[in-house]
Amino acid sequence: MQHSAGRPLSGQVALVTGGARGIGAAVCQALAQDGATVYAADLLSCEETVAAIAEAGGLAHARKFDVSDRNACVALANEIVAAEQRLDILVCNAGICPPGTVAGDWEQWDRVIDVNVNGTQACIAACWPHMTACGYGRIVLVSSMAYYQGGVIVGTEYSASKGAVAAMTRHVARNGGPHGILCNAVAPGVIATDMTASFSKPDPQAIPLRRVGTAEDVAGPVRFLCGPYSAYMTGTILNVTGGIVLAA
Ligand code: NAD
Repeated sequence: MQHSAGRPLSGQVALVTGGARGIGAAVCQALAQDGATVYAADLLSCEETVAAIAEAGGLAHARKFDVSDRNACVALANEIVAAEQRLDILVCNAGICPPGTVAGDWEQWDRVIDVNVNGTQACIAACWPHMTACGYGRIVLVSSMAYYQGGVIVGTEYSASKGAVAAMTRHVARNGGPHGILCNAVAPGVIATDMTASFSKPDPQAIPLRRVGTAEDVAGPVRFLCGPYSAYMTGTILNVTGGIVLAA
């Protein structure tokens, strides 16, 4: 791994999906602080994320794309490699979490699986040839507390999608290891972002750390999983729940 200029990710290139806001924007900023050139990609504009990084002296680019468009994922990965001659880090953070029920509706089921599962796979598949070709890669997926203990407010499809992401983490880890590709995940608890803005929040007294999480609380472990201090970790799912989940 290149480790120059005193920052652990100097010279590396990262693609972060869902980088326009929330956890994704915080991850973009954390990786840029560590020296990576960050491509923040989202359905929404990532210009604000990129401007904040530039203001702090970092390097970032904004791209608009839809993770559920497989061709767009391939085109973006190829574009990054053509421009930078490398693609070291992929953070599959883009996701949706509409309110729902156990019975749910099939249209919503398909949409959530399409974005959270198929979109994650589309990004991994798009980056895989580049990472295997250079024998190095760090992939971080974003699961959820709903994987461990089911969700409330959300539909069954959300828990199913995040369970699939956890299984994909282990599958990609097992198959990526021989190629120098590490794959790990974070499973956030209740994090204050636009996604959860309309959801009723748990009583902080019910959370061992006595507060709802922030996007930065999740970006820290992601940064760790992208950097040099997690070099012998793969297939791990880090629960980032303030202690709500204690046995995972
Ligand atoms: P958010 O809604 O604030 O941000 C998600 C981003 O993903 C948005 O910018 C959105 O435009 C983007 N996105 C959605 N669909 C997309 C698509 N098809 N293509 C490209 N971009 C797309 O949510 P957040 O809270 O920052 O969530 C980030 C991730 O963390 C999600 O995968 C979410 O499921 C997961 N998560 C969040 C929480 C929480 O409490 N906030 C808890 C557990 C897991």
